[in-house]
Amino acid sequence: MLVMDAHCDVLYKMWLNPGISFYDTDSGLDVTYENLEKSKIVFQTFAVWVPDKVPVGQRFEAAIKQIDDFYEKVIQNGQKVFLVTSGEQLSECSPTRIGALLSLEGADALQGDLRFLRTFYRLGVRQMGLTWNHANEAADGIKEERGGGLTRFGRQVIEEMSRLGMVLDVSHLSVKGFWEVMEHPDLPVIASHSNSRAICPHVRNLEDEQIKALIQKNGLIGLTYVPYFVHFPHTEARIDHLIKHIEHICELGGENHLIFGSDFDGIHDKIAQLENAGQLNNLIDALLMRYPETLVRKWAWDNGYQFYSKHLASQNVKKTEAK
Ligand SMILES: [Zn+2]
Repeated sequence: MLVMDAHCDVLYKMWLNPGISFYDTDSGLDVTYENLEKSKIVFQTFAVWVPDKVPVGQRFEAAIKQIDDFYEKVIQNGQKVFLVTSGEQLSECSPTRIGALLSLEGADALQGDLRFLRTFYRLGVRQMGLTWNHANEAADGIKEERGGGLTRFGRQVIEEMSRLGMVLDVSHLSVKGFWEVMEHPDLPVIASHSNSRAICPHVRNLEDEQIKALIQKNGLIGLTYVPYFVHFPHTEARIDHLIKHIEHICELGGENHLIFGSDFDGIHDKIAQLENAGQLNNLIDALLMRYPETLVRKWAWDNGYQFYSKHLASQNVKKTEAK
């Protein structure tokens, strides 16, 4: 069964540790070429994440360095992993030639400048979240106590993303920001790595109303394996608990909107038996014991395939000229 994964932090880890290799089995990375190949994860989103501790004026540069690693150390000559920027390319993904989507986790790297958004787009970035957990020039993150929504710049960012034809990721965004984004008439939206708050009451998880809104908007919800977002106490999180989130999201009508969003290489604690991308079969097998294969196939591949085929259209700048 082919699989898609909506979030990993390999690029951040490689930026921290320049010596490690995506193609080295013993690199210590959760997501390596070998692990993806083993689990038939043939489409993987690679997030660029610039932590808050990087001073504002150096965030663009930090993101550029991670993107350089993406090209130099992951894509290389494109024979084993290739950059996906349009929907048509999804059908080219295979266990030996893996498609890679480049995304920005937070608009911090834009440094308040729309020109940098366009630059990232031209470098192949097709998806972006407005924030990580904290506030930046675009919006408040979910852990910002004042709970603000989008700034004026944030509204310009989503308009420009819509014009360019990018996907917006609402994981990490404040609740107010989430609802403001959902008001946008045609921006494709994904929560790339968030679970259900009704099942595990963590602030990073989605409330039922948010899940329903994502379903209504034809968006995606990426089930994540972060133990803290799966079960309380997190030390006891198991694959069974992850399935409770699937069950609940399906009860809300999300059967055609669920995908996987591991957050591998962004987490230290792991769910037993699901500790790296090479162990994904343990989740697939557990799902196949409970659900018909057609359903599991939807979550593993079909739902994401439909979404990205449609929204990573073969356009470039689709509407008006840049302002
Ligand atoms: Zn994250």
